[in-house]
Formats: sequence, structure tokens, C-alpha cells
Amino acid sequence: METRRELLDLVRAARAHLEALADSGVEQLPGRLPSVAAKATPRTRAPVESAPLLVPVAPAPAPSSGTTRPPPIEALAATPRVGASAPPRRVLSSEERRRQLQVLSDEVASCTRCPLHATRTRTVFARGNPDAELVFVGEGPTREDELQGEPFVGPAGELLDKMIGAMGCGRDDAYIMTVVKCRSFEPADPTKDRKPDAGEMAACRPFFDRQLELLDPSALVGLGATAVQALTGSTTPITRLRGTWRLFKGRVPLMPTFHPAYLLRSPDKKRDVWDDLKQVMQRLGKDSSPKDR
Ligand code: SF4
Repeated sequence: METRRELLDLVRAARAHLEALADSGVEQLPGRLPSVAAKATPRTRAPVESAPLLVPVAPAPAPSSGTTRPPPIEALAATPRVGASAPPRRVLSSEERRRQLQVLSDEVASCTRCPLHATRTRTVFARGNPDAELVFVGEGPTREDELQGEPFVGPAGELLDKMIGAMGCGRDDAYIMTVVKCRSFEPADPTKDRKPDAGEMAACRPFFDRQLELLDPSALVGLGATAVQALTGSTTPITRLRGTWRLFKGRVPLMPTFHPAYLLRSPDKKRDVWDDLKQVMQRLGKDSSPKDR
């Protein structure tokens, strides 16, 4: 008796399922049950060719209005990695990352790929912790940076360190690097720094890309228009780019903001930068409220 009741229950469940499919306009089932589906119940809907889809298809997004604003970071974060050969994140051990960065730094130190090699006294590779989740990127070494062999060590660097400290980060929580590794200066005044030009940045690009690939950070902060342009390829003014998340190479969240040197000239913009850095802190799971100011 028990077995018979179970069989009846199974038949009822199967019948209810088939009726539901037929009500949805499904005429045949794939695989081994087409005839059963066809006989389950008289078809009362239009043929399957003209029947409505079981799952409504969302309308296509409206064409872009021409705005350059990127999609929200939540959507960007779901973007698949670019390039089939992209390695999984944090695939390198700390030791291996440091070893490979040292090899790259040695390669940079003997580089003659662009004219800046002829006037440098030394290359400037980076400072900070290579294992840090957060990487700051500037445009190139200044005179002070070249003298000391580390990026962001002058007044702008001191302000950057204060900003990083205000984020609740210590010395081991950030890594600081530049797009080019040799100092560029005005030919008429060798004491005056200048922005690296497009050719110099293009020549140094393989080092820059490899360095970021090895670092594999959780977030990037682009400091100033030149660095942000190198990271994004966008020529949109930094005043419009800052404060909005972008993606570097389709997968690393990038926050563009003003360069600390600009803040020294325009201290009223510090509030904007702090707002940008608070977004970075939130993305890294840090509490931004106690140091809000
Ligand atoms: S700036 Fe870069 S590409 Fe140019 S010489 Fe220095 S390391 Fe080489």
C-alpha cells in the first residue's frame, strides 16, 4: 500500500509540473520526455514559436548619452578580468613578489630606453610595502626624489604621507610608485622639474605595467592628471575624473584624485581629496568616520 501511495504522489507531482510547463507555452521537453510532455495536457497557448518567453528579457540599455562617467564600481567590480593570460590575484608569495620586483628594479637601473637616462643621477623605483593592498601612483620623480632615491620625499611627499596616515594606514600599508623612473626637468633650468612627455611615458610603460602586475593591489590611487591619464588613457580633466572609481586594466579599482603638489598650491582642494580617500578606505574595509574632517 505504501509503495502504491508513493507512486501516485510521484505521478501527481509529475503531472502538475508538466501542466505548469504547458501553461507556460512549452510544447516539448528536450531529452527523453518529449512525447510525455506533448500528451500531458491539451495545449491552450499559442505554439511555442510564438509563445512568450518563460523568463522575460530585460530591455536593452538605452544608448549612451555621450557622458564619460563610468558605471558604478559595484558593476565594474563584476567585470571579468581582461586577457585570458591574466594571473589570479595574489598568486605570488611575498618573497617571490619582492624577488621579481628587485629584478625589475635592477633592469630599470640600467635602462636606456628614453633620453631621460642621459641626465639622471639615479633611477627612482618605489617606496613602501610591496605586499600592501593600496598603491599610490604619481607621474615621476622630482629633484628631491632623485637625490634620495625614493618617490614622494619632498614637501608633496610629506603631505602624501600625512594623507596616508589620516587614512589610518601605517608605513607598511601602502606602496608608492611613479609612471616613469627617471627625473625629467626643464632644459633651460635643470633645477625645475617638468612632467614627463608622452614618449618618455610610453618608453617606461613596460616597467610600469610589470610593476603593477607584480604588486597586484586591491586598489590604486592615481595622483594628478598625468598619472591618471597614464592609468586610464583618458584625457578628461582631473577635475572631472577625481572622486569616481575607474578600473585599471579592467579589474583593479582606481580612484583618481589631485596630486599633493597641487594641494600645496591649492589647499582648499584638500577636502575633495579627503572625500576621495574616504571612498578608498571604505572599499578596503577601513572605518573612515573617526578621522573625518
Ligand atoms: S624613464 Fe623609464 S624608459 Fe626612460 S630611461 Fe628611465 S627607466 Fe628607462
